[in-house]
Amino acid sequence: MTASITHYINGQRNAGDHAKTQPVFNPATGEESGQVVLASPQDVSSAVKAAQSAFPAWADTPPIRRARVMFRFLELLNAHKDELAEAITKEHGKVFTDAQGEVARGIDIVEFACGIPQLLKGDYTEQVSTGIDNWTMRQPLGVVAGITPFNFPAMVPMWMFPVAIATGNTFILKPSPLDPSASLLMADLLKQAGLPDGVFNVVQGDKDSVEALIDHPDVKALSFVGSTPIANLIYERGAKHGKRVQALGGAKNHMVVMPDADLDKAVDALVGAAYGSAGERCMAISVAVLVGDIADGIVAQLAERAKALKVKNGMQLDAEMGPIVTPQAHERITGYINKGVEEGAELVVDGRDFDSAHTGDGCAEGFWMGGSLFDHVTPEMTIYKEEIFGPVLVCVRVPDIATAIQLINDHEFGNGVSCFTESGNVAREFGRRIQVGMVGINVPIPVPMAWHGFGGWKRSLFGDMHAYGEEGVRFYTKQKSIMQRWSDSIDAGAEFVMPTAK
Ligand code: NAD
Repeated sequence: MTASITHYINGQRNAGDHAKTQPVFNPATGEESGQVVLASPQDVSSAVKAAQSAFPAWADTPPIRRARVMFRFLELLNAHKDELAEAITKEHGKVFTDAQGEVARGIDIVEFACGIPQLLKGDYTEQVSTGIDNWTMRQPLGVVAGITPFNFPAMVPMWMFPVAIATGNTFILKPSPLDPSASLLMADLLKQAGLPDGVFNVVQGDKDSVEALIDHPDVKALSFVGSTPIANLIYERGAKHGKRVQALGGAKNHMVVMPDADLDKAVDALVGAAYGSAGERCMAISVAVLVGDIADGIVAQLAERAKALKVKNGMQLDAEMGPIVTPQAHERITGYINKGVEEGAELVVDGRDFDSAHTGDGCAEGFWMGGSLFDHVTPEMTIYKEEIFGPVLVCVRVPDIATAIQLINDHEFGNGVSCFTESGNVAREFGRRIQVGMVGINVPIPVPMAWHGFGGWKRSLFGDMHAYGEEGVRFYTKQKSIMQRWSDSIDAGAEFVMPTAK
């Protein structure tokens, strides 16, 4: 008998009308671990109703009291972080230590949200004209929704709801149905932290629930993180309803290795960033751009390391890479590897023939694959152009930094990028000229800290505001300007011209 993973509406677990369910698997064992309910439009309406009813009182709650709830949530998250990490590993497959890192990066945003009174304090100008003051304040939008991907079931929701709630909105989370349990654990902790019922709700579901959220007139803004085609759809459909939308999409992140780089460090960085979390990270490095004559040496080292990866059940603490999230994703990744071979790239390490004998007890039926490495990949090849989202690193050889920058700037995605070099000038020029939203210099996965905000460029982000940080505060609030004059200050009588400072 497997568990039923429900919605969370108005402070309670809620099975909804239970019209549709979907199995949830442990990717390491291949076993079904639960059934998640999929929301009907009526279930979505119930969640929106609960969030809408909770909004006026929550929006009226002083920011410092909202921050105190965040502080209590922070303490509870710290106390339960391993429980959350374990739930992630068991449904996503990523190794436990990586899941702990995911939770820690989510906690960073909660810490940021604890400072909300400072962030909401507004601007004030005394005496913009004689007897008149002007100030701006930021007020919450209402009910806002977050639609999140499978690959960070705790961190990506925490990019959204701590800032949305701290700024006075009420929130509906629609997690990925592949690993839905983390959402309910976070809902329980928020309730224990004293968050009023209806301020945070979860609707489990698929496409239908997302469409019901976008189309619902009481949902004022949508934050989406997932693949580019869906991000694009959500942006367009949300915009049609006049909603505020930030839709973060897919990626193809390059790492440039210059001949002057510390090559051992560059290889370490490539291996971790390409195969960590089985390449299922939007900031994974999936293209190594090898500059000048270093390619043969680097590819040889990468091959050795890819073959030696400890691929096993993520609950084993020495595991470096876990399984692939679903058999469908496994098939998609295998298809890309086949295509790379067909199109003439050199498959140096083939993760398709992976032997699962050493992955752990009971893991023979898991969704396993080893790390793959391609060399001599060119920009026309499908494995260069498209996001594979698996443990596949492709190497492109280029003669110089100018060609490397051009190659990256021509790619349709622009999420993250990295350059390994010991030259300050190369680093500086790279940072200035690259058309990518998040840049690392000798840092392979430059995920910005909580107060800096996260977002890619080009087809990696639709909308104009990044997630979390001050951009997040702006996204979840609208600015109001108030100009005031009192009757005992100067009164000029009726004025028929555009008012100017007097
Ligand atoms: P996905 O696009 O399949 O799903 C994301 C969310 O959208 C899920 O909640 C899903 O249920 C929902 N969804 C799926 N199909 C839909 C449809 N047709 N209409 C409406 N909603 C739909 O993405 P995924 O496979 O869960 O996650 C992996 C993708 O997310 C990768 O492309 C990765 O690069 C991207 N990602 C991007 C970032 C970023 O910050 N840019 C971060 C994490 C993941």
